[in-house]
Amino acid sequence: MSEQRHHGFETLAIHAGQPADPTTGAVITPIYATSTYRQDGVGRPRQGYEYSRTQNPTRTALEECLAALERGSRALAFASGMAAEDTLLRTVCRPGDHVVIPNDAYGGTYRLFAKVAEPWGVSHTPVPISDVDAVRAAVRSRPTAMVWVETPTNPLLTIADIAQLAEVAHESGALLVVDNTFASSYLQQPLTLGADVVVHSTTKYAGGHSDVVGGALITADAELGERLAFHQNAMGAVSGPFDAWLVLRGLKTLAVRMERHCDNAERVAAFLAEHPKVRQVLYPGLPDHPGHEIATKQMRRYGGIVSFRVRGGAEEAIRVCERAKLFTLAESLGGIESLIEHPGRMTHASAAGSPLEVPDDLVRLSVGIETVDDLLDDLAQALD
Ligand SMILES: *Cc1c(COP(=O)(O)O)cnc(C)c1O
Repeated sequence: MSEQRHHGFETLAIHAGQPADPTTGAVITPIYATSTYRQDGVGRPRQGYEYSRTQNPTRTALEECLAALERGSRALAFASGMAAEDTLLRTVCRPGDHVVIPNDAYGGTYRLFAKVAEPWGVSHTPVPISDVDAVRAAVRSRPTAMVWVETPTNPLLTIADIAQLAEVAHESGALLVVDNTFASSYLQQPLTLGADVVVHSTTKYAGGHSDVVGGALITADAELGERLAFHQNAMGAVSGPFDAWLVLRGLKTLAVRMERHCDNAERVAAFLAEHPKVRQVLYPGLPDHPGHEIATKQMRRYGGIVSFRVRGGAEEAIRVCERAKLFTLAESLGGIESLIEHPGRMTHASAAGSPLEVPDDLVRLSVGIETVDDLLDDLAQALD
C-alpha cells in the first residue's frame, strides 16, 4: 500500500488497502463475516488474524484506506464516532488531566467531556476555537493533555487555524486533535497541517448514504496509533465487518460527492444571503464569513453544511424546518439527501443552559446532491 502513497486522493479512495481478494480475485473487498480464524498451528494465526474484535480483514481494508486518505500512519475504525472519541480520551487522558474543547463543539462531544469524563476526573475548558490567544491562555492555565478542534464547527461553522493551533498545543506538550467530520478527508487533511490525531464520525460524509453509524481515529505517529489499537481491542468498540464495508464503499465516491455537495451548498448559501427572511448566513465560503481566509488556506472547498438565522426568532425557525418538503427534517448530516434541522431543539438540545447553547433562531442544512434548483425551490416555499 505504501507504494501507492504518491497517488491522488481519488485513486487512494478506490485502491488503498483494497487489493483484489487473494483467494478468488474478487475486485471488491469481501465482507468477512467471521468472529474467529483457523490457525496454522498452536499460537500461529495466519497473517495475524485470530479474533475479529482484534482484527478483521474488511475492517483492515477500511483502516488502511482511511490512513492513506488522511496521510496518516495508522487508522482505526470504530462502531461510532463517539466510540472513537471515548477510546481516544481514555488512551490519552488520566484523572487530573485537562482538555481544551471548542465552545461550539458537537453536542455529543461536549456531553462526553462534561458528563462522562468530568466525573472520572478529566476537566475541560470550552473556548472560542477561532481565537488563538484564547486557546493559548486556556492551554497554559493548567497542564493540558489535548486541544480538541472542530473546523468548521457544528452548527455555527466557525473556522479554526489548524497550523497555528498545532503550534499552540505543541509548545505546551499537548496533542492537537481535529474532528474532521464536517470537512471530510477530501476537503481538509489536518495531519498535514500539524495535527496529531484526526477523528471522524464516518456516519457522515465518509459513509455518505445515511445507512451506517461508524467512527475512526487516524494518527500521524505510529506509536500513538499502536497505543490506540491496544485500547480499541481492550475496550472493544470496533466497527463490525458489514459496517466497515459500507463505509469503505462510501469512501470510493467521497471526492465526487463532496464536489457536488460544495456546488450545491454554495448556491444555497448565495440564495439565502439574498433572502429577506434570513438574518444571517453562516457559510465559510462567503467572503464576509470571519473564517473565510483561513478556510481558503486549509480547505480545498467549503463543504456541504450551511447554517442560517431566521428573522422572527425560534418560532419562525421551527416553522421553516417543518415546512420544508424536499429537505428532510432529521438529525445527522453528510448523506446524499438534503436534511434540515433546528439545532437548539434537536442536535444541540443537550447544550441548553451551557456555554455551548446555540441561538434559537438557527437552522442547519446538510445540503445533499439532488438537483440544486429543486433544493432552492423548497427553501423558497419554506421561507415564504
Ligand atoms: C456525528 C458527529 C460525531 C459523533 O459521531 P457518531 O457517529 O454519531 O457517534 C462527532 N463529531 C461530529 C462533528 C459529528 O457530526
